[in-house]
Formats: sequence, C-alpha cells, structure tokens
Amino acid sequence: MSISQHAREVAESPTLSLNEEARMLRAKGEPVIHLGIGEPKNKAPIQALLNSAARLTTGDIKYTPTDGLPSLKKAIIRYMEENYDKLVAPENIIVSEGAKQSIYNALFTVVENQDEVVLLAPYWVSYPEMVKMCYGTPVAVVPENGTFYPRMEDIEEVVGSYTKAIIVNSPNNPSGVMYSEDFIAEIVDFCERKNIYLILDDIYHRLVFDGKRPPSPYKYTTKDIENSKLIVINGVSKAYGMTGFRIGWTVASRDIVEVMTNVQAQTTSCASVISQAAAEGALTGVQSVIESLRLTIQNNRDVMMQELDTFTGIRITRPDGTFYCMPDFRAYNKDSVDLASFLLKKALVVTVPGKPFGMEGHLRLSFAGSVKDVTEGIARIKWALDPESPNEIYIGDRKLIRDWL
Ligand code: PMP
Repeated sequence: MSISQHAREVAESPTLSLNEEARMLRAKGEPVIHLGIGEPKNKAPIQALLNSAARLTTGDIKYTPTDGLPSLKKAIIRYMEENYDKLVAPENIIVSEGAKQSIYNALFTVVENQDEVVLLAPYWVSYPEMVKMCYGTPVAVVPENGTFYPRMEDIEEVVGSYTKAIIVNSPNNPSGVMYSEDFIAEIVDFCERKNIYLILDDIYHRLVFDGKRPPSPYKYTTKDIENSKLIVINGVSKAYGMTGFRIGWTVASRDIVEVMTNVQAQTTSCASVISQAAAEGALTGVQSVIESLRLTIQNNRDVMMQELDTFTGIRITRPDGTFYCMPDFRAYNKDSVDLASFLLKKALVVTVPGKPFGMEGHLRLSFAGSVKDVTEGIARIKWALDPESPNEIYIGDRKLIRDWL
C-alpha cells in the first residue's frame, strides 16, 4: 500500500519542527528562548470560560448546526457591525474549527483544478500548502526588494484567466505590517471588477498598534454581499488569545457559505459546542480584554524594536500589528534555514526561517512571549552574529565564549 503522492507533497510546518527541536533541548535542561511562538501568553477571558463552563455543566454536549450556534452567529453579526460597519445575515456566516479551517474550506469551495491563487509575499506558510491541497497553484507576488508592501501593478501582472482568488493578510503574519487603506481600496475594487475572490484573512485585525485602525474592505465595494467576491475570515485565536479553543469564522455570500457548509458537514460536522460557547462568551463579554492584550503586545513590540535597533547589519520594518516582525538578516547569512538552525544550536534561541514565508534571508521573530524573552533572545542573537558585540555571554548559569567570528 502506498501513501498518496498528493498528501506526501504537503510540507511539514516549519514552526512545528522547530518547536520539536526546542522541546528536546529543553527536556535536556537547556535554557531555550522561544522567539517562534504564535500565541499570546494571556489567560482566556473570564466570560469565555464562564460561558463555556455553563454549557459544559448542562451536560447537553451535542452536535450544533454545521454552520454554528445561532447565538454565536448573533454575536458575530454584532462583531461585523462594530468592526466592519457591515450588516450581514446569519446565512452569510459559517463557524469553523479555527480560522485555519475557515481558510481551507473557503479555498476548497472556490478553487478548481489548476486554478491560480495569488499570495502576497511574505505570506503565511499555510496558504501555499492549502492551495496545493485543493489542487490549485499558488502564485507569489514578491514586493520590491526590501519592502513588505505589495504593489497593485505587480499583482495585476500575474493575474490572468486562471486566477481564481487572491489572499490578503493584513496585519500580516510574518512581517507585522498593515497594508494601506489605499491598497485595500484598490485591491477590493480590482477583485470585484475582475470577478476574482478576495480572501481577507483578518485574524490579526484587532491587534493593531499606535492608534491605527484596519480599513473595512466593505467600504470599497458597491456590490451587496450576495454579489460580492469578498470572503472575510476572523476568529478568537489572536484577539482574545484563545488559540486552543479553535474557533474561526467566514463571512461571505450565501452561495459560498452554503457550499462551505456542505464541505464542513462531510468532514467535521461542526465546531465543538464547548468552544463555540467560549467564543460567544468572549465576543459578548467585556471587550477591554482585547485592549489589555493589545497594549501588552504593543509594549513587547517596542522592546523588540529597541533591542533590534542596536544591532548593526540587519534591516527592520516596524510592525503595525500582530506579534511578529521579520528583520532582514542577509548581511549575516542569506540562507534563513541555516541561520535559524545555527541560532538554535549556538545561542539556544528559536526563530523561524523566512524561506517558507517567501522571504529568504529573513527571520520571523515573535514578541508574543515575555519582555525578558525578547531582551534575552535578541541579546543572544546579537552575541552569536554581531562581531561588534562582546564575545562572552551568560546563558543560564554557563558562560559561553564566541569563537566563530
Ligand atoms: N491566519 C494567520 C495569518 C495566522 O497566523 C493564523 C494562526 N497562526 C491563522 C490564520 C489560524 O488561526 P486559528 O488559530 O484561528 O486557526
């Protein structure tokens, strides 16, 4: 019996394999610092826990409708009004097991054999794999050297008769940048005119810094939702730090939601009722939890920028949101996989190579952890790479001498 070639071609998650290596080092007692993490350290909001616990204690833990609990959808409708100034109907919403499943189901629903899906580099590592799993072809648009901002003219150049969808993720994992309102306006208008689906992965849109606000894409279309090509993805993982509950949702035309519901019905039936209750609790509870998480992360971003500023040779783009940044390390090593593995071995710091994000020569650094992780992690990277930094460092209680520069 052989394993499907199609399945074999799905790439291993770069973060999960690094996590495993770090876990093994930690198990040996090594003081590893993790700058690869993709989730905040907060506790889940109390209202999420109470709502979920209340559901649990009823003992009535059964399937929900495939597209989600009506009460959760009601909360999502309010969320759409508050955050997008858009009124949608319950039939425009489907709840899934995390935004990851929402994106996969949306792609499965619109992509046919050999359709092309345009990705804007740097892109989230899962997009190209998901597109290929749906028998589509990912087409990357790489911005002008050194910037993380795609240009409309470069996108228009790769769009052709095979283009089925474009995925936009802003604020962006891995770069942390938020695209301009003008860019969102242009790409919405372009996709609506060309009949190309625009999948907006807005999972980080509540984690935006410096008083900025992400633009609502609906502002730039004259089409009503039933005729619009916009597919908006959200979830509770990042804004509320509820990654383990696995709740995401999609807002799109009824046609799309109907087919996505059939796809989901045949694969997962529905998201867990306990998690849906938690998500409803988070959405209807005190919203200051988002603000306190956002402020903590913004402070971590400031510390990260301060530490990186003292580093000669690297190029940094200041993140507008998320909990990632992606400095350019090409002055030290053009091979990001090699560099990440070197840093883990020599400095016991986990970073994520830029290559699978479509940005070779860069590393993704997360500031979702503690301020101490950020300062110590960057100090160690500096020690390992920067010849101008002192050649001795204490890692745990060991004094290490740099003997490779
Ligand atoms: N989109 C992006 C850009 C992400 O970074 C992530 C999580 N790493 C997701 C979607 C998936 O989030 P969820 O936990 O809701 O599946």
